[in-house]
Amino acid sequence: MRIKTQVAMVMNLDKCIGCHTCSVTCKNTWTNRPGTEYMWYNNVETRPGPGYPKEWEDTGKYKGGWVLRGGKLALRAGGPIAKLANIFYNPNMADLDSFYEPWTYDYDNLLHSPKSKHLPVGRPVSLITGEYMDKPEWGPNWDDDLAGGSEIVPLDPNVKKLQEYIALEYEKTFMMYLPRICEHCLNPSCVASCPSGALYKRDEDGIVLVDQEACRGWRFCMNGCPYHKVYYNWNTHKAEKCNFCYPRTEAGISTICSETCVGRIRYIGVVMYDADRVKAAASVEDPQKLYESQLGVFLDPFDPEVIREARRTGITDAWIDAAQRSPVYKMAMKWKVALPLHPEYRTLPMVWYVPPLSPIMNHIEEDELQTDMYIPAVDQMRIPLEYLASLLTAGDTKEIRRVLLKMTAMRVLMRDRAVGGLDELKRS
Ligand code: SF4
Ligand code: SF4
Repeated sequence: MRIKTQVAMVMNLDKCIGCHTCSVTCKNTWTNRPGTEYMWYNNVETRPGPGYPKEWEDTGKYKGGWVLRGGKLALRAGGPIAKLANIFYNPNMADLDSFYEPWTYDYDNLLHSPKSKHLPVGRPVSLITGEYMDKPEWGPNWDDDLAGGSEIVPLDPNVKKLQEYIALEYEKTFMMYLPRICEHCLNPSCVASCPSGALYKRDEDGIVLVDQEACRGWRFCMNGCPYHKVYYNWNTHKAEKCNFCYPRTEAGISTICSETCVGRIRYIGVVMYDADRVKAAASVEDPQKLYESQLGVFLDPFDPEVIREARRTGITDAWIDAAQRSPVYKMAMKWKVALPLHPEYRTLPMVWYVPPLSPIMNHIEEDELQTDMYIPAVDQMRIPLEYLASLLTAGDTKEIRRVLLKMTAMRVLMRDRAVGGLDELKRS
């Protein structure tokens, strides 16, 4: 057993309201310099949607992360020849169009325009070309902000029919928010793909950083990371990424995205894991077993043997105490209600998510549910289980269903404790 400690995060997707406060406070803290305009260490995507960078989950297009070759883990981004080719031309790299063209407003037009019938509009101006920009055709929240819905409603003069159509088609639509930061993976493919050794994982807390002195700007990490959470600064010609606000966490303060999160969706904590189990867990062939095997890497911080071994390897009592009090340990490992994002990328990500539940709670609030109330609700929820499974369990709907049932049962119980009424509901 080789015990290591890691800071990690759980985000409860049910509580995210898509306000982007996290992204903005992160930007003001870390990426408000020349060369970082297009970077969002933290971003919030409207899902389903193209995400940021555009279609980042398309591994056929971007080729990031690990794959199994002959039963062994290999970087999907390619071998030495591909690496050499990448130096001169990298067809798989996300380019500026894949992120978005950074822009500002033409404030002059906004503030000093002559009197006219309509109010002046602050037109967007590209920070790259200095030209006025067209209306964007996509964005990480495009489906939410601009996509509209009129295209799928037939122009039928029969109102009743139209209402039926809307009931059928619109009620099937769904959306959710997915906030994302670097996953500070246990098996980071960005680190493995860097020829300069500039990316490294800190031993004490597992935070993955870029050594700015050592970085040569090859950008293999941008390809190597399947979550596409490494960026290239065109001003410094170095790679950059989320650093889990290490100057804050070292001082015992939470990350800025967590501190300012309006929905209070983020939980930060320490987990202990066995570094000897990481490779084997990432190399499990059956995708349906990936979640279980990745869970098996973590150690019980209350186990006397784990505590003894941790102390023997120099882990301080403060870290052991933090692991025992960790909400991440409780939610992800003990209660098993949080799941890793895309476990099939095999990097063992350290930001886990509680899947969203809200549509089910609408039924409960409307007293529509009968005695065995949760089961039909989970099966009928608006966000398809298959979609959540494609994000969080490599396609295993069983695990998603298990988590949602547990969350629903717990909510009903807690609500009963707070305001009562469960017995009455059961009798009805
Ligand atoms: Fe590296 Fe972060 Fe990408 Fe994981 S998510 S591979 S740690 S950049
Ligand atoms: Fe979601 Fe919190 Fe970010 Fe708002 S601040 S978008 S609630 S994660």
